[in-house]
Amino acid sequence: MTTQVQLGDNTYTLERFPLDQKNRSLQAWDSADEYLVTYVREHHAQANSILILNDSFGALACAFNQLTTYSVNDSYISHQATYYNLQANGLETSSLTQLNSLEALPNKVDLVILKVPRNLGYLQHQLAAISAALPKDVDIIAAGKTKDIHNSTIKAFSQFIGETSTSLAVKKSRLIISKTSQLNKQAAFPVSWPLEGCEFDIQNHANVFSRDSLDIGARFFFNYLPQTSKARHIIDLGCGNGVVGLMTLKRCPKAHVTFVDESYMAVESARLNIQSNLPEQLANCEFIQNDCLTDFEPQSADLVLCNPPFHQAQAVTDHIAWQMFKQAKQALKQGGELRIIGNRHLDYHEKLKRMFGNCKLLGSNKKFVVLSAKKTT
Ligand code: SAM
Repeated sequence: MTTQVQLGDNTYTLERFPLDQKNRSLQAWDSADEYLVTYVREHHAQANSILILNDSFGALACAFNQLTTYSVNDSYISHQATYYNLQANGLETSSLTQLNSLEALPNKVDLVILKVPRNLGYLQHQLAAISAALPKDVDIIAAGKTKDIHNSTIKAFSQFIGETSTSLAVKKSRLIISKTSQLNKQAAFPVSWPLEGCEFDIQNHANVFSRDSLDIGARFFFNYLPQTSKARHIIDLGCGNGVVGLMTLKRCPKAHVTFVDESYMAVESARLNIQSNLPEQLANCEFIQNDCLTDFEPQSADLVLCNPPFHQAQAVTDHIAWQMFKQAKQALKQGGELRIIGNRHLDYHEKLKRMFGNCKLLGSNKKFVVLSAKKTT
């Protein structure tokens, strides 16, 4: 993996997180970061304080380390990577305040810089929050890959922020340039929809996986969820809006369910969904932001349920699924079970067999398989 980058006048060593990924060709920054840093150095050299949004691995926090910096992210892993990369480059962490995607934004900064997220609804949520928090005439410079900047992206800036222009493309990246004008337009989040076949309503913050409808994988997984009246410790790993754990709690009313996701908006959506649909079972639930099951108590869970992701930000990768399976095995009690849903072509069967020494097919259709592996060693 290339780790050395020049941003402005300085060279940094930047790592992606988690550190032990197999795909070493991926970098911790992109050409949009480089363009953004060069532009801000040329046009906003006088800024003392800066609000950064969606800095994946801390490249921007490193480049603007000499300023008072607020960095907003929905990703727990991005927060960790930002601290790691600052420290690894011998930079101060005391001038940085890391905020999660649901926390209030600062109401006074000289400049906002934003990496354009792929999710338009999440962009709208962020622009509405910026517009509500900051006074008039604060410059906003956004950057993204040209292929990810659409008419709808520019329209969101015009609708939520004000007059907007774009730059020429440089190394396949572009800038969007705007200025706050207090339009006070609200974004429509969280969104809610009725969960088919039951009485539940599912609420979703802007950046949640499958925000606008039930994921088809989750729908198929519902057919293979456990049903028991015994007290069991179940983990919903990569919980998203918590639908898997919610349906499990309905069938296992005495279960203790731990919901885990690296997205702050996901974990908060899961909490909202238990609170509003099964309020009497809320006390039996825990809601945790984490990178998979890092530092979970070993041998503590009876069952881990998981609909794993196969990408990190824009990159398609199976390292997260691997990490989830490996750490699930550590967290399971002897005799405990990992039960997953996956796309057929991803061949999780082989992975689980190698890791657990066994793997059973519980069900399948044209697209998905549901697999079960037991911890025997
Ligand atoms: N369980 C939900 C469902 O079935 O609708 C969501 C499944 S979605 C395919 C995978 C989830 O894993 C996403 O919510 C994503 O935020 C989460 N995730 C991705 N990387 C993670 C990591 N390193 N640690 C914990 N969760 C992660």
